[in-house]
Amino acid sequence: MSDFDFDLFVIGAGSGGVRAARISAAHGARVAVAEEYRVGGTCVIRGCVPKKMLVYGSHFAEDLEDAARFGWTIEGATFDWKTLRDHVLADVDRLNRAYQSTLDSNKVTTFHERATISGANAVTLASGKTVTAKVILIATGGWPVTPDIPGAEHGITSNEAFHLEELPKRIVIAGGGYIANEFAGIFRALGSQVTIINRSDKILRGYDEQIRDRLLQISMTKGIDFRFNAPFERIERQDDGCLVAHFRDGKPPIECDAVMFATGRKPKIDGLGLDNAGVAVNEQGAIVVDAYNRTNVTSIYAVGDVTDRVQLTPVAIREGHAFADTVFGGNPRTVDYGCIPSAVFSNPPLAGVGLTESEARKTVGQVKIYTSDFRPMKNVLAGREERSLYKMICDAGNDRVLGLHMIGPDAPEILQAAAIAVKAGLTKQAFDDTVALHPSMAEELVLLK
Ligand code: NDP
Repeated sequence: MSDFDFDLFVIGAGSGGVRAARISAAHGARVAVAEEYRVGGTCVIRGCVPKKMLVYGSHFAEDLEDAARFGWTIEGATFDWKTLRDHVLADVDRLNRAYQSTLDSNKVTTFHERATISGANAVTLASGKTVTAKVILIATGGWPVTPDIPGAEHGITSNEAFHLEELPKRIVIAGGGYIANEFAGIFRALGSQVTIINRSDKILRGYDEQIRDRLLQISMTKGIDFRFNAPFERIERQDDGCLVAHFRDGKPPIECDAVMFATGRKPKIDGLGLDNAGVAVNEQGAIVVDAYNRTNVTSIYAVGDVTDRVQLTPVAIREGHAFADTVFGGNPRTVDYGCIPSAVFSNPPLAGVGLTESEARKTVGQVKIYTSDFRPMKNVLAGREERSLYKMICDAGNDRVLGLHMIGPDAPEILQAAAIAVKAGLTKQAFDDTVALHPSMAEELVLLK
């Protein structure tokens, strides 16, 4: 019997922590997990999952509009925010219970309280109890960054967006990344007046430029306002309850009902007690780990957003699983970070895998670009001008597909499947050799010229 209370103590029951706890327990470890808020973490409780449900909910606006061209008469259609919100939150409750039951059925002890590291093998719970463990895993995730400006407290982040009492009639969203574009699409479709305020003149840095430009153009057509190179100065609350956002560049202030900050997320390490064990962090405050997720302290590991490698749920899950196999499964292994597909659930959504055109030109040199710029059949019949864009980047020397990027309906669904081919290193010829599945949007991938 070990001298420790547990073999593994996981701090944070999000995507990475729950996977690590479950697999370690399955490998025979005695596992405990502490969660100060709700089991499930950002993705399940206040991120990817409820966001996707809001995306579905908001999409009905355009579907109902288009329905007329397909012969449907839908009279008196109205939208009720609270109904959507409450159904989404109810499903979050269901998932929360499912995650908890996964932990329970794997005999993982859950402490529903905050845990602080108090030594290399010890954590102290909010109740004052100290628990020892042979290994500690930090999986506390990330937290939204809000700017240090007067009145920032009047703004919300994505954390609060799921609980709004009312749908804001006018919302100003700060940031031009994932969350800003996704929520802009949701709020706009549901009828809000939306302004995106970005500090630079680029949205969605890291995605292919042509695809980003297409989203910008479509978003503007849908009525989303963009203000670029506009740093916030302050936010004021007026006597009537409305907010006024002021900018440093002399641009006119904007009156609105809500300001949402979507200006990135930082590792959640505040008050975690890292100094008590001497765990090292980098300049961005992320916990430094090696390829096996081990920190500079031999008994302490970290996975997921708190390490700020790739802030994506499926990556945190893989890290948690690899950690468990390495430390408790007798199978040391690392995560392959190559060719990770990702998507933005904007309206329309976009998705990409592999190198963008500019990255390929910089790193590979001679590249061939194939694009398909088309109007999906459904949009044609609906009288919607919105066009999709698919783009394939190939190595001109050996025909290998280096990157695939797309914007249009169901782009994330289509790209997930196509990403297998890119990850496997297939060539453009392999795509061409595949017979088209007609009529579909995805067939464009095997018909690229
Ligand atoms: P992002 O990193 O995507 O975007 C942050 C945006 O805020 C950028 O436009 C950035 O500008 C801007 N910004 C950063 N700092 C400041 C600042 N101090 N003042 C003004 N603007 C600033 O972050 P998000 O918050 O949108 O999302 C956080 C992370 O969560 C994402 O990186 C992603 O990994 C994950 N996520 C993934 C989703 C998905 O997979 N679909 C959905 C939602 C989130 P600049 O470009 O100039 O740096």
